[in-house]
Amino acid sequence: MGTTLLPGGAGKYVLGIEPACPRCQEPLTAPHMLLHCPNHKAQRDHLEAALHSHGLVFNLTNVLDPKGAARGPVLSALAKYLLDCQITDKI
Ligand SMILES: [Zn+2]
Repeated sequence: MGTTLLPGGAGKYVLGIEPACPRCQEPLTAPHMLLHCPNHKAQRDHLEAALHSHGLVFNLTNVLDPKGAARGPVLSALAKYLLDCQITDKI
């Protein structure tokens, strides 16, 4: 999990992307955006619920690499989360 597609990693290389969280001024890392940023609380609830419904703890490992039956639902919730976050960031 050393690489990331999130702006915190890519922003250093891609022109025009701000690598710090616009709300928290924290580095926009995967853990910040996926687990901690208050900016995305509403969207995160949905992702968290997908993990909990399969008995998984809400942490970075389970979000990015869910095991067994949780894999499909969690990854689709993650995709929706990332989509929602990127859209709300641009509004
Ligand atoms: Zn933030």
